[in-house]
Amino acid sequence: MKPFDCHTHIYDNAFGKDINEMLARAKKALSGIIVVGEDPESNRKVIALCKKHPGFLFPGLAIHPDKVHTLTDAQIDTEINFIREQKNLVCIGECGLDYLWAKKSGDYENTKLRQQETFRKFIALADELNLPLNIHSRRADAVVIHTLKELRPKKAVLHGFSGTVAEAKEMFSFGYKIVIGTNLFFSKETKSYVESLPLEAFVLETDSPVQAPVRGQRNEPANVRLVVKKIAGIKNISEEEVIAATNKTVRHVFNVI
Ligand SMILES: [Zn+2]
Repeated sequence: MKPFDCHTHIYDNAFGKDINEMLARAKKALSGIIVVGEDPESNRKVIALCKKHPGFLFPGLAIHPDKVHTLTDAQIDTEINFIREQKNLVCIGECGLDYLWAKKSGDYENTKLRQQETFRKFIALADELNLPLNIHSRRADAVVIHTLKELRPKKAVLHGFSGTVAEAKEMFSFGYKIVIGTNLFFSKETKSYVESLPLEAFVLETDSPVQAPVRGQRNEPANVRLVVKKIAGIKNISEEEVIAATNKTVRHVFNVI
């Protein structure tokens, strides 16, 4: 059995030269990969790349919170209409809130509000299209939780989540899953979720090309294997058990593999 990577950006220029070698390693190691877009330009790259590898690369489209301040409301609505017309999407993402980035944008309060409005539009789109959400949450966990509790989208996975263990448990009780990525090698919060929540709460990711197990290196999807090994070690169970449980959740949430 092979694990599944739920969240990557492998259209990134970091893979420009050796994308075929990287995908060959990924096909040996994994059962599939979700590729999520961030803005109009990358959303089109996601579609083109996934078309070349049907049954292995699966597309998700949205606007990343870090990109919201670069687009007008009209551009965001036009992109939502474009996404609505696409076939074969397995999720709406990457969308969500990033208040660290909102601060960097130079217009903190307004960018936070626009991120919230955009996130709500994508939650509505996910429910309209009956798709799960691939959610980015950074320094905004309380607001993400509040928004999910208010709008109650049917299915969602939380990427980059760094709330308390109690908050992670609460999200799992609502049916939402916590994404455990290669950040398990350096994030205390991620490790605490693995220690405290059942395997059924998790799906796996790399967020390639970023979040490499060794900071500063390029990450790649095959590294999901390292996450499997690390979870198995923390929980003192076999790697097969980790893969079986997380793949079952992938099938339930994303309806793939
Ligand atoms: Zn991402």
